[in-house]
Amino acid sequence: MAGRFAPSPTSDLHLGNLRTALVAWLLARGSGRAFRLRIEDLDTTRVAAAGDVARRQLADIAALGLDTDGEVVWQSRRLDAYATAVAGLETYPCYCTRREIAEAASAPHGDGHRPYPGTCLRLSASRRAELAATRRPALRVRAGGASWTVHDVWAGEVTGVVDDFVLVRNDGVPAYNLAVVVDDLAMAVDQVCRGDDLLSSSPRQAWLAVRLGGEPPAYAHVPLAVNSEGRRLAKRDGAVTMADLAARGVTAGQVLTRLAASLGLAAQDEPVTPAELLRRFDPAALPREPWVVA
Ligand code: GLU
Repeated sequence: MAGRFAPSPTSDLHLGNLRTALVAWLLARGSGRAFRLRIEDLDTTRVAAAGDVARRQLADIAALGLDTDGEVVWQSRRLDAYATAVAGLETYPCYCTRREIAEAASAPHGDGHRPYPGTCLRLSASRRAELAATRRPALRVRAGGASWTVHDVWAGEVTGVVDDFVLVRNDGVPAYNLAVVVDDLAMAVDQVCRGDDLLSSSPRQAWLAVRLGGEPPAYAHVPLAVNSEGRRLAKRDGAVTMADLAARGVTAGQVLTRLAASLGLAAQDEPVTPAELLRRFDPAALPREPWVVA
């Protein structure tokens, strides 16, 4: 049994990410689970020095005092595992462009995901051959119009349509929804704690976990951190990373206090340790609104 924190090394962790890591650690340790780390570095071709970013992310977690179990898992080293998983699923190639999907699909869901209407499932052999001559296909799973319900510690029951979502992108990179499920199963993760922007992906992922012979994990989606205008916290919002804060003389311990205070687990300037926070932590009492970082 394990919980985990799985950052993408696109930029340094900001206070919202660090707070999610703290909650993930508290939930895992509070329920007697191992706590694992995974670097989701499949889609970092656009980011120079993703390895350096990842190493700073790991150092920040350690500096907060969050202890972890086992080796860090790097998705870029697990391509064989994703290929094996795909080989065991019912899939079909999809030649649709984003534009074609936007024109054919129903309106996007709240998360921006447009359920795929199954166009390429119904292609004639000749049309498929024609498209294959000029386009590289993505690979989609055949879900047969399923829907799936997950249980989230805070959001309760969440039901979502499972469309024929992409498993492998048309540039050959395994899709996030595939990699996350394959890895959580391989790492014995049965508790998934992350930002609540991913809540709506959970039904698809839980469905896939079962398809791959596993059990869906317990879910815990943490409200995001926002700036004073209510927008999702970002690097441009000032001193929001450990490095920015350190440059202003803020220690890792003080960052931990700030995160703990935002969770109602410490007073504003009270020195705390993760072990002490664990004694105080009650998942039911976690704030349900976004954290406004002013
Ligand atoms: N890598 C994702 C992110 O940084 C999190 C994925 C997950 O926890 O399932 O937002």
